[in-house]
Amino acid sequence: MDKKRIGGDAHGCAPGEIEFTACELADAARAQAQAQVQQPPQAQAATRRREVVVAGKRVRTIDVHAHCVIPEALKLLGLKLEDQRGPGIGEVGARRLAEMDEQGIDMEAISINPQWYRAGRDVAEQVVKIQNEKLAAFCATWPDRFVAFASVALQFPDLAIQQLEHAVKKQGLRGAAVGASVAGVEFSDPKFHPFWARAQDLGVLIFIHPQSTPDLKSRLKGNGWLENTIGNPLDTTLALSHLIFEGTLDRFPGLKICSAHGGGFLPSYAPRSDNCLRVAPEMDAGVKLKKKPTEYLRDMYYDTLVFTSEALRHLAAEVGSDRLVIGTDHPIPWQSQSVDHILNAPGFTDEERIAMLGGTAAKLLGIKP
Ligand SMILES: [Zn+2]
Repeated sequence: MDKKRIGGDAHGCAPGEIEFTACELADAARAQAQAQVQQPPQAQAATRRREVVVAGKRVRTIDVHAHCVIPEALKLLGLKLEDQRGPGIGEVGARRLAEMDEQGIDMEAISINPQWYRAGRDVAEQVVKIQNEKLAAFCATWPDRFVAFASVALQFPDLAIQQLEHAVKKQGLRGAAVGASVAGVEFSDPKFHPFWARAQDLGVLIFIHPQSTPDLKSRLKGNGWLENTIGNPLDTTLALSHLIFEGTLDRFPGLKICSAHGGGFLPSYAPRSDNCLRVAPEMDAGVKLKKKPTEYLRDMYYDTLVFTSEALRHLAAEVGSDRLVIGTDHPIPWQSQSVDHILNAPGFTDEERIAMLGGTAAKLLGIKP
């Protein structure tokens, strides 16, 4: 069985060689981290850094959808670096910064796709510990270029709560990156309520990233990489629909959720959700929602990885431009023109573009001016 598909990185993320040792934000660890990347930060001066300007003002651009993996943690899961997808993450220091500079991305919020949801408690605990320590060290090395989402072992909600609290309060991480289910268990399941409650209390962002829909594996085979093309946006669509229809978002109205890939298919065909139970009232399970299903879309956030100006226009029309943040999927080469995608799409005001480019993300991630 393809562990990568089951485990969570259906669209694929490359192996990395972020070989930092365990630490929090200590100076010694920081020095070591700098020594172990292939090129020190100063060397980046040689790369031309694109500075994004809107209406004569420099805008700090922030990408909420960028990946890495930690080889040491992968090993604990029995996964191989070479099976992971994505170019260049092994040169995460110099190469990543140079690509960000070229693309006009000032900051990335890095996340690790959860491939540990089927792991036992001890392994999952160890994997998360290693990853969060290394992400924290990485961010401390370049505090003006990177923040990170914590990994959490959501299959053990009590443990995930501890991990989130530690990551946010002690390690400076800015929220948590999760899949679109926990190995097939929907986020709307009551067992996760305590985790959403804690995330809501902490005021941190939850970044939802799909892991394909392994239940449909047989129908997604063949040409077209449908496990990703369809499987990933469908996974996100299912997650968000359950959070809406099961009343989870009513229960946690302050929970901040940001979905990758523009929220999958949901915003593209949102009005259907408002009409399903009218057509078939016998399918109503008795969950009394406080508002129309589509109205919840405007309570959440989405990245702008939707490729065309028309798709961006429609996404903004359904969810509001104030709910959109840059998502590049770096280093997966889906989109190298994320900034121009926003700058060139017709119909947005300067204020809207500034918010999408980085203003909204800065607020969500607690990034100071
Ligand atoms: Zn991604």
